[in-house]
Amino acid sequence: MKGICILGSTGSIGVSTLDVVARHPSLYDVIALTANTNVAGLFQQCLDHRPQYAVVVDTQKAEEFKQLIANSEVSAIEVLTGTAGLEQVSVLASVDSVMAAIVGAAGLLPTLAAAKAGKTVLLANKEALVMSGDLFMEAVAESKAQLLPIDSEHNAIFQCMPAGYQTGEKVPVARRILLTASGGPFRTTPLEQLVDVTPAQAVAHPNWDMGKKISVDSATMMNKGLEMIEACLLFNMSSDKIQIVLHPQSIIHSMVDYVDGTVLAQMGNPDMRIPIAHALAMPERFESGAEPLNIFDVKRMDFEEPDLERFPCLRLAYQAIDAGGIMPTVLNAANEVAVAAFLQERIRFTDIAKVIERCMSLISEVRAESLDVVLDADRLAREHSEEIISEMV
Ligand code: NAD
Ligand code: MG
Repeated sequence: MKGICILGSTGSIGVSTLDVVARHPSLYDVIALTANTNVAGLFQQCLDHRPQYAVVVDTQKAEEFKQLIANSEVSAIEVLTGTAGLEQVSVLASVDSVMAAIVGAAGLLPTLAAAKAGKTVLLANKEALVMSGDLFMEAVAESKAQLLPIDSEHNAIFQCMPAGYQTGEKVPVARRILLTASGGPFRTTPLEQLVDVTPAQAVAHPNWDMGKKISVDSATMMNKGLEMIEACLLFNMSSDKIQIVLHPQSIIHSMVDYVDGTVLAQMGNPDMRIPIAHALAMPERFESGAEPLNIFDVKRMDFEEPDLERFPCLRLAYQAIDAGGIMPTVLNAANEVAVAAFLQERIRFTDIAKVIERCMSLISEVRAESLDVVLDADRLAREHSEEIISEMV
């Protein structure tokens, strides 16, 4: 039996992970669950899954949570708090696998700690990898941690790689990655209407049910920009080898194009339990709870080239990875601030890319030789972005 810690268990990926784990109670033991502020959700998960540890990051909410636990049938659960609590549970000796499912930069330190401790890291939290880049991949290589992609596209690519493939390895015979994207809710919306898009419209994704931040990222296609950078790092490829392909049906989750002309694709219904089950069961396979794909319902599959005028965030992501160093950190931080401001209706949908572009233009130093440099760049980019936003409104 393997011990699992789920960072961000109350989110969309966290809930799907617990759903898959609960289908295989003899294989996985839930050791730790964590949430930022959702005390009620985490408490219910504690009743259902009986972890040994629960972390509530927000210190005030943690007090409320401690009371709930103390007066319950699961009073033996040890409650931790703060970001230190996250790092504590991700390196526990009883934990074999860590599901990194916190959204945004907040997930970096516990995910990196898990990697340094040599855990099997199931990576959904793409922002953590994008912001720390080579430093993260080096930590994985040094500790011999196993890094398994959960993002559906990267999991698909991983499945299309040669048997025994380890993330970070170069595969010279794989000449290109075809990274698929649904194109989000505004793929065909007239360009002049994008300025009036509301948060409610932006979070209504046509194919996937996800957290708010990634849903907005899908609407701007920054999600695909972050995923392109994620793919460069996970599969040790340069950005010119990664072709983004709009595929509105979301049935093919990505492809690898080999030198002999073979193109391998992974297909399935758009259900995150599929990549989660793949990573949890490896090298075996087990049931995920996802509906089997009915190919006759699919009927047709379309493929289009992305339009960089409609999706300027894609252009900015290529610009960031090609500049290298801390530029992906800056891109990610500016995007997090801009998306939060859009969700609070402080800026317009079309301002998101403008904030990021302006922020990137203000930062010239690009080396990223240590974690401190990365964290400083993250902080600086957030400050710049807040200033840019306050000048806009
Ligand atoms: P979500 O918003 O549904 O859940 C986020 C989780 O992170 C929650 O448990 C929340 O408590 C926790 N969290 C939020 N802020 C935190 C903070 N400051 N400190 C500690 N914990 C915090 O998000 P999600 O959709 O589940 O996405 C999680 C990650 O997985 C993201 O990086 C996203 O890009 C990635 N991802 C999600 C999907 C999907 O289908 N939802 C698909 C691919 C990748
Ligand atoms: Mg994805």
